[in-house]
Amino acid sequence: MKSAVKKSKPAGSAAGGNDPTVLPSGSGASPEVPAGNAGTDASLDDLKHGLQNGRLAHAYLLVGQPRGNAQALVERFLQLLYCRASEAGPCGSCPTCRQVRAHNWPDMLWIEPQKKSRTIQKEQILALQQFLAHTSYGGGWKTAVLLYAERLNPVASNSLLKTLEEPSKNSLLFLLTESPEFMLPTVLSRCQKLILSESTRKIPAEVAESVADIIAGHDRDDIIARQATASRFLMFLKALRKGVEEAEKREDEVDDGDTEELEAGKEVVEARVEARYREARADVLTTLLQFYRDILLGVCGADERCFYAQGQRDLTRRMAQGLSHGKALRNIDVIENIKKQLEQNLPEALVLDYGFSRLTTLPGDR
Ligand SMILES: [Zn+2]
Repeated sequence: MKSAVKKSKPAGSAAGGNDPTVLPSGSGASPEVPAGNAGTDASLDDLKHGLQNGRLAHAYLLVGQPRGNAQALVERFLQLLYCRASEAGPCGSCPTCRQVRAHNWPDMLWIEPQKKSRTIQKEQILALQQFLAHTSYGGGWKTAVLLYAERLNPVASNSLLKTLEEPSKNSLLFLLTESPEFMLPTVLSRCQKLILSESTRKIPAEVAESVADIIAGHDRDDIIARQATASRFLMFLKALRKGVEEAEKREDEVDDGDTEELEAGKEVVEARVEARYREARADVLTTLLQFYRDILLGVCGADERCFYAQGQRDLTRRMAQGLSHGKALRNIDVIENIKKQLEQNLPEALVLDYGFSRLTTLPGDR
């Protein structure tokens, strides 16, 4: 299988030095580090202090745009870590700084999701572990950057967990993601989190409408109504998966020029469907969560203009009526638990049955 791990070779004879190294151009690196905002500046300061005081964590989770502000921050910090040309900070122009920016500095490994499966796979994490096990080229830090860390498949996540639990000396990991909510809690808990910007993912309007339809049916507070909601939700997820599978099939037909990738075959397509489906399902759960937050806002008598689902204000108002503050809060806990359990790969039917059996909804004025 083709690996998307890009491992760099030493481009010069010495780390840092003045040798006129010829650098490859491009290779996916950003051209210049853009000016920071409050989030990135504060995070860079955190990292600098950590370095100065010998208190760097072994792994950082950077929440921001993996190809934007998060990548720029990591590149900037890695230049600081490796540049020997200036005492005042990274010079930005020596061969080391340029190699860091081109992502081909030998003590640094960049990992990104494989093109076809759109996931980070176990082989890539094994390559990471091998990379960290070798002596450093420049005699200092070995660093690895994972772009789109939320795309780690479950097996890869578990392999990575071992690295996070027993970090090698002088190693530093950076996990870049815009959607930490899709990552395993066990991985998250072992990383120091730096927030550069909030998630900017947009959820399609038709998802919000379907979720509202399901919730609208949940208008009695008894066990039968709860079971009915759970099975409607399960059916909705099944249709969602089918939609993802069909979309993948269509893309494959269009995409028939790439024989190397076609050879990768069924397994890869399945992994890709799974990754896409999990993403779509997480969107659905986020929408459900937002909806129950609106209900809580309604219970608190908040201005309806701050509702997330503006198109569903009537329904939200109706659902909020007569519900106690405590119950509205508990519902949010229930949805958050459903979301967490699904991320942990527990069986959908079980999670939904149990989850919805604990949701409280009053009939309102109907
Ligand atoms: Zn430099």
